[in-house]
Amino acid sequence: MPSSPVIYPRSEHSISRAAISPNALKVLYRLKEAGYQGFLVGGAVRDLMLGVTPKDFDVATNALPEEVRRLFRNCRLIGRRFRLAHVHYGSDIIEVATFRAAAAPEREDADGPESDLEAEAPDNSVYPADDSAHRAVDVTGRILRDNIYGTIEEDVWRRDFAANGLYYNIEDFSIWDFVEGVSDVRARRLKLIGDPETRYREDPVRMLRAVRFAAKLDFTIESNTERPIIKLANLLEGVPPARLFDESLKLFLSGYGAKSYRLLQRYQLFAPMFPRSAAAFSLPPYAYAHEMLDLGLQNTDARIAADKPVTPTFLFAVLLFGAVLREMNEQKVGPAPDVTQLMQACDTVLKAQQLRVAIPRRFSIPMRELLMLQPRFNRRSGVKALSLLQHPRFRAAYDFLLLRAQVGVAEPALAQWWTDIQIMPQEERVACVQARPAELAPEGASGAPKRKRRRRRGGAGRQSGA
Ligand code: ATP
Ligand code: MG
Repeated sequence: MPSSPVIYPRSEHSISRAAISPNALKVLYRLKEAGYQGFLVGGAVRDLMLGVTPKDFDVATNALPEEVRRLFRNCRLIGRRFRLAHVHYGSDIIEVATFRAAAAPEREDADGPESDLEAEAPDNSVYPADDSAHRAVDVTGRILRDNIYGTIEEDVWRRDFAANGLYYNIEDFSIWDFVEGVSDVRARRLKLIGDPETRYREDPVRMLRAVRFAAKLDFTIESNTERPIIKLANLLEGVPPARLFDESLKLFLSGYGAKSYRLLQRYQLFAPMFPRSAAAFSLPPYAYAHEMLDLGLQNTDARIAADKPVTPTFLFAVLLFGAVLREMNEQKVGPAPDVTQLMQACDTVLKAQQLRVAIPRRFSIPMRELLMLQPRFNRRSGVKALSLLQHPRFRAAYDFLLLRAQVGVAEPALAQWWTDIQIMPQEERVACVQARPAELAPEGASGAPKRKRRRRRGGAGRQSGA
């Protein structure tokens, strides 16, 4: 392992300060003026080299977290053992990390707050100063040894891919490259730093990150980095479900969901995250659910490209639909009404799913509602049918109906009817529902394959439900 970097001076790379966020520059310059090292690191350096706008700008420094805090009024420290400084500029946050030592804890989620999204905002005033276990100090409190914070040479080895392991130095605008990252970025290649199997065992989420970056950046995964993935895919079963929830959103709701999904399948990473969905997709009667997910992700990617909002609620409905219908059809007993059975199936699948990917209630509850509304689309006679238009989840449920129609498990005419009714004036709507003969039982709500369907490859025997 070389401990001195290859240094690319400003004249040998394409990163211009004009492309760096003004807030990140302010942080870097302030560190430099105070005599510390200040580097832009990780994805931002990679993206700037590629001419892509970075999602966020992360800074690394040799200043200790407390020292960073003293430099910025608008700064909060987060994390317990390994502390990070967040410098706030309105809603923009620049994360400043002190170089991490090789022995520093990799992640804190084993005992820390489970999810970034669910965790309460940490109140830095109540954080115990429990660095003591990792620090040796003399009688005056001077630090003799600190195995949490380290040098840039140590920091680089705990990063994942060489392409993510570059440091842009504010001192002279050069890039420091310890790991041949510049050539990887230029070749659009993902190569893990160190021994791939060891690095995946340390943190199995790196397999998901490989897929995510390959999809998003159109990089290839270098063969040694690729090879162990299938064998180690099951290690994802040991990752905290809250972390896998966060990663699922990054994989599926960042604009490259369809491609990420195909890569997850190719490397057999999907099944350990969504075992019941994967099992349903492999059964001919539910294979359409796989197609629905693929289409749903393509729609989601298109919405993101058009700057339209997307929601985890819809995503998880599409992800779990096949599993829910299978559960409903297999458990079906007695004369209980279909909606009750659908609800029970939904709850059973959700409960099992939470063991792998923890879907927060603020998404799982509306998701369940969205699925429960599906049978109601079958009712089109009587003014009561119109009340569905007023339901707060109507729009998402209607989009879901369109997706079902696209894969042939809802009548295209039914979807069209709900499309038309939305743009009609109220009197016409009422006339429309009153003209229809009363429907006895909601058609197709039983989950039996009873309708004519558009035939597709393997389409025979598809089952609908909702
Ligand atoms: P993006 O923000 O575009 O999704 P990124 O590369 O910035 O991509 P982050 O998750 O923001 O990814 O992480 C920032 C940096 O921290 C990464 O570039 C990488 O160097 C390091 N890193 C993040 N997660 C891991 C991990 N699980 N293992 C090793 N290093 C990691
Ligand atoms: Mg980032």
